[in-house]
Amino acid sequence: MNYKNNWQTTTDVNGNYVRTDAYKQLKKEIAETILQHVEELVAPGLRSHILFYEVATPVTHWRYTGNKNGTMMGAKPSRKNMKSRIAHYHTPVKNLLIGGQWAELGGGVPIAVKAGANAALLILQKENKPAFKIFANYMDGKTSVADVLKSETFKEYDNSWIRKPTPAEKSKQSNPVP
Ligand SMILES: Cc1cc2nc3c(=O)[nH]c(=O)nc-3n(C[C@H](O)[C@H](O)[C@H](O)COP(=O)(O)OP(=O)(O)OC[C@H]3O[C@@H](n4cnc5c(N)ncnc54)[C@H](O)[C@@H]3O)c2cc1C
Repeated sequence: MNYKNNWQTTTDVNGNYVRTDAYKQLKKEIAETILQHVEELVAPGLRSHILFYEVATPVTHWRYTGNKNGTMMGAKPSRKNMKSRIAHYHTPVKNLLIGGQWAELGGGVPIAVKAGANAALLILQKENKPAFKIFANYMDGKTSVADVLKSETFKEYDNSWIRKPTPAEKSKQSNPVP
């Protein structure tokens, strides 16, 4: 994020990054450099096949996810971060747990899912011991989903949730391709 003074952004009164013309120019220069390298080393003529491209920077990741320093994947699994015990589920706020990529080192979808499940286990361990035992056994591979659902510890769910169409799907529905 701190590359070239935060990618040549400025900040507004609320501390948000402001994307200047210099920022847009820097993005373009870097994208062009990457394309040039790839063309020279791997894919001659690549540019002639590109109709449109988007460039994302840490500022982009920050805008969309709010992640500290615009990181893609949470805290780096480095020796320094291991020694500093960056990974943690409990926070100084009572009953406020971390249940995403920041609870562990490394980030990524698998780590975020693991952290979500572990955070749920920590809550169940305190609030609902029978449910904790069943869920923990399942997580340890000692029981199946069918057995978990049969246990009657969890509330019944009729699988009635329907995903809302994405903006792209909505636009396709209203403008079908002839
Ligand atoms: C470009 C890119 C490519 C990636 N590719 C991969 C990949 O190929 N494989 C992989 O495993 N991982 C990949 N990752 C990483 C992966 O997406 C993350 O590690 C994972 O999504 C983290 O999940 P999370 O639930 O912890 O956080 P997020 O998915 O970031 O969810 C946090 C949510 O909280 C919301 N939020 C933030 N602040 C607030 C607030 N104040 N109030 C309310 N809501 C708020 C955000 O809008 C967001 O929806 C990629 C990430 C990026 C950016």
